[in-house]
Amino acid sequence: MGFSSALQGRASHEALLSRQDCELRLMDTIRRCLQLRVRCDREYAAGLGQVVAQAQKWERAEDMAGSLIAQAWSTMMDETESLSRLMRANAETLATTVIDKLNALATEKRASRKIYQDEQARMALEITRYQESVSKLKAEYEKNLEVYKIAKARYEDQYVKGKAGRKLEEVKERYVKACRRLHNAHNEYVLLLLEASQYERDFRTVLLPALLEYQQLVQEDMIERWCAIMRSAAELTSFSTEKHLEIQSRVNGSISAITTDGEYREFTDRHKSQPPPPVSFLFDYQMVEEYSGRLKPEALAVDDLTIGNLRMRLADLETRLADVRTVLAEKRKQLSQHDAEVECLKKQQDSVNRLFVIRRASEILRKDIRETQCTEQKLQRLTKLIRTPLDELGGADAPKAVEDMGDMAGSSLTLSSKSHHRLANMIRKPFPFHRRPSPASSPTGAGPTGSPSPPVSSDALDDSLASLESGEERDGAPRSPAAAADTAEDSVTASQPSEGYQTMSPQPERPLVDEDWFHGVLPREEVVRLLVNDGDYLVRQTTRNDETQVVLSVAWGGHKHFIVQTTSDGQFRFEGPSFPTIQELISYQHECGLAVTNKSGAVLRQAILRERWELNNDDVELLEKIGRGNFGDVYKARLQLTSELVAVKTCKVTLPDEQKRKFLQEGRILKQYDHPNIVRFIGIAVQKQPIMIVMELVPGGSLLSYLRSKQHGSSLDVGAQLAMCRDTAAGMAYLEEKNCIHRDLAARNCLVGMHNMVKISDFGMSREEEEYIVSDGMKQIPIKWTAPEALNYGKYTSLCDVWSYGILAWEIFSRGQSPYSGLSNTKAREMIDSGYRMPAPDGTPDAMYRLMLRCWEYQPENRPHFAEIFTQVNGLFMGVAGPDVLHN
Ligand code: ADP
Repeated sequence: MGFSSALQGRASHEALLSRQDCELRLMDTIRRCLQLRVRCDREYAAGLGQVVAQAQKWERAEDMAGSLIAQAWSTMMDETESLSRLMRANAETLATTVIDKLNALATEKRASRKIYQDEQARMALEITRYQESVSKLKAEYEKNLEVYKIAKARYEDQYVKGKAGRKLEEVKERYVKACRRLHNAHNEYVLLLLEASQYERDFRTVLLPALLEYQQLVQEDMIERWCAIMRSAAELTSFSTEKHLEIQSRVNGSISAITTDGEYREFTDRHKSQPPPPVSFLFDYQMVEEYSGRLKPEALAVDDLTIGNLRMRLADLETRLADVRTVLAEKRKQLSQHDAEVECLKKQQDSVNRLFVIRRASEILRKDIRETQCTEQKLQRLTKLIRTPLDELGGADAPKAVEDMGDMAGSSLTLSSKSHHRLANMIRKPFPFHRRPSPASSPTGAGPTGSPSPPVSSDALDDSLASLESGEERDGAPRSPAAAADTAEDSVTASQPSEGYQTMSPQPERPLVDEDWFHGVLPREEVVRLLVNDGDYLVRQTTRNDETQVVLSVAWGGHKHFIVQTTSDGQFRFEGPSFPTIQELISYQHECGLAVTNKSGAVLRQAILRERWELNNDDVELLEKIGRGNFGDVYKARLQLTSELVAVKTCKVTLPDEQKRKFLQEGRILKQYDHPNIVRFIGIAVQKQPIMIVMELVPGGSLLSYLRSKQHGSSLDVGAQLAMCRDTAAGMAYLEEKNCIHRDLAARNCLVGMHNMVKISDFGMSREEEEYIVSDGMKQIPIKWTAPEALNYGKYTSLCDVWSYGILAWEIFSRGQSPYSGLSNTKAREMIDSGYRMPAPDGTPDAMYRLMLRCWEYQPENRPHFAEIFTQVNGLFMGVAGPDVLHN
């Protein structure tokens, strides 16, 4: 049953219209949902992209080559990327093709509804009109009939009464007229009725059914298209299309390829090596050769002096052996239980986890058993070594070890007395260091003023040796007073009689900071850089647990750092004698040529003096605050020595050491550069807090403020803007040549000097590397200035600086506007990824804008290097300003 036969009634008509309205609303809902779905899928695709980016941060080490796990992971990530691309492409097709089709369909449906409604209304109106016309004609018919009846009655009346003549004629005439009218009305009525009933029949049998049939065809055609749209939408949002299945099957395939024996095959092939050569523990025959007693190589000395000890060792070994055997038996039992359980579990399908656990436990047990077997064998052999001679002795007394003490000269006792003698000798001799103070290469000469250390007894010395042998080397902290005594013992041979050093007159005390070899709070990295040759040393200050400590740093097969110890009576020492001042201690240590600690063996040879750039804080007079940096305020200042005006960056005293180190990093980097477009480094002042970086004062301040200022920014012409771009390109080309990546190039980090000359500053994030991979997250990254590969993979090269340079040039031509203004960082990033680039600011020369676009090439290798940028910008500048002009 179709529309044409079933839906003719009024109610059906209303229902059909209402149905179409509902369909339109459904289409609208579908459209909205698909739009949302597009957004979801795009976000999901972007999320997958981030997953892949995260995965790409993993550095593929060569050692993982051939790893099946790594290959599977790599496939998984590659396929995640494919999935991301597929989802993005599907989302785009959904957004364009499918939703557009749905919109077109809705428009068409609306139109067809209107046609149907209008057409139906027109037909209905026609019927109504006929009805009205019929009623009107009928009324007229009735009226004419009335008039006719009256006229006829009058005529009959006159006629019957026998009237004749004019009167009768008149009545007759009226009668005939009424009769004509009636007949005409009758005819009209008949004709209209025929016409109306014909139309009415046509309406019911032809017109309305045809309209409904047409409507049905149109609707059905639309349903077919609607269905196609739904099919496309379903396919584009499906996770199980053939492409998806292919992706998943590639992932599954790579995982199935993992085999436990294949995983390390390539690795073991590549790293195959010979097993370590056996270390031989052989008895040194020389030792017994020098000994005149009964000791024999590789045999135990069983005599009256050792027998007690040997018996005790034997008893102990036997107990241990028994214990080990018990443990071994227990472990073997456990292993056989595990093995039995494994056999059982293998038959059960659902016990994979337990099987894994038990297998693992069995492996551990097997390893333990092998190890315990080794211990057992070792104990067995030791036991045998002792038991055999004891058994051989039987019940007899052990032979005497020492027949005659007089024959024992040269034994170990002699060594002890020798040490004692050397120590005593050392105490008597003066220190040789104080007579030749050498300001250039050695610290200010001064000797200890206290009396010499009391003689150390032979026993005390032995104890101290023992404690040294077992002690761990800590940076400079002497392990015990006894350890200090040991250091003194080594110096014996070089010593002079003690009266010598008692005659020394102490130097007048002066602050440590005045010593050229005192480097204040210079960070360890710097120290390490300064100490090159073995014996190079300097003194510095550090804070540990809120306590200020003075540290002696020495190059000695690496770098050793010794904390100066303070004695209970306020003197200073390492392991040797103590002195009233650190200068005297260091002087002593330098002059006497003894190791600072026995274990380190580090000897002081060459004092490393403060470098030209290590300024004294008191030499820097802060005048006025001119800015605020990340670590503290920036001041205009004067250098006392030269009266030069400088800029000084200070570091807040309260910042933790780690931050202070970061602060100084900028100075360390800047120190090496010398270029007119790089802010000049003058020095650092780290003798005390606040620590400072001193650099040339660049009078115009930050480039960003300069560009934004009414006074300067608005008066900049193209020539001046090009000159600024040229200056920064020159500075950056210099940095690129030096393998320095700035990482934060932006107008806010450039300064404007005399004649508008731009100088690059703020090297706080810079790195001296060809490529720098950030691993500690991407905190505080200037997103809108940073190249995509740095944001996505943390990979920085000079070509990232080139990207930032493009933004900086844009800032210069826009007179300090914010890039991507109105866009959040995330949005800007998203738009860049999808190809968006900022338009040229008004007045930017075309060539300059083209250069900006090249700087913003997505692939770093497509960007120009700074040398090329400089040549181009310089050419542009020359074109505008003329060849004679250096700075506008
Ligand atoms: P930070 O790197 O710690 O953030 P900046 O280098 O940005 O510090 O310096 C902060 C402000 O101090 C700059 O914007 C600028 O106004 C001023 N400034 C910094 N260095 C100098 C300098 N050498 N000459 C003149 N002003 C400077």
